[in-house]
Amino acid sequence: MEIGAEILRWRTKLPAGVTLVAVSKTCPPQAVMEAYDAGQRIFGENRVQEMTAKSAVLPDDIRWHMIGHLQTNKVKYIAPFVELIHSVDSLRLLEVIDREARKNGRVIDILLGVFIACEETKSGWDAGELTEFLQAWRAGKHPAFGNIRIRGLMGMASFTDDMTQVRSEFNGLRELFDRFRSEFFSAGDSRFDTLSMGMSGDWQVAVECGSTMIRIGSAIFGARGQ
Ligand SMILES: *Cc1c(COP(=O)(O)O)cnc(C)c1O
Repeated sequence: MEIGAEILRWRTKLPAGVTLVAVSKTCPPQAVMEAYDAGQRIFGENRVQEMTAKSAVLPDDIRWHMIGHLQTNKVKYIAPFVELIHSVDSLRLLEVIDREARKNGRVIDILLGVFIACEETKSGWDAGELTEFLQAWRAGKHPAFGNIRIRGLMGMASFTDDMTQVRSEFNGLRELFDRFRSEFFSAGDSRFDTLSMGMSGDWQVAVECGSTMIRIGSAIFGARGQ
């Protein structure tokens, strides 16, 4: 019941225009159901197997978001149902998602994962690589990716208590998002409108910097045992 109450609290404190992804990784299906019963529909997972197992036993109207690093050979398992893939970090992965989406007769929404933290471990494109890719793509040098819709960017700030550092990383991502939107996605049919940044420890800073989607795990479901 605590989880349900937490969802209700989040709903009242969430600023307009910000979507809550409840990150249910490592949580059992019953915990997801408690959040579901309180009205939450968007859930994030970072492992393919865990997402498919939960989706099989939980209600069909749950909207599943893949938030972790996705291996190309596993895309096929989530392509039939995933709503948004947050962390697309390579051209190869774009190609595979496009192909698997086509096989399923779908257009899959994705976010491009951008490397903004100072740690070496966090994956993603850097701003320069992404700019080059988007320029080449708009110039017709890559496949059209007709079964993918690029909806925006996702990033993770450094794991630090230094909120000045976190803020400058989030601001950098926001500026990139604005620049890409006007440079590459201003055409009428584009919907480049999603900036996924902010977790339990830094979501307030992320929202102040312009986040439209926050990914909250431990602040809803409690600390994860590792
Ligand atoms: C686990 C995870 C989250 C949620 O983290 P919390 O600190 O528990 O809110 C958000 N984003 C990604 C990519 C994650 O892997």
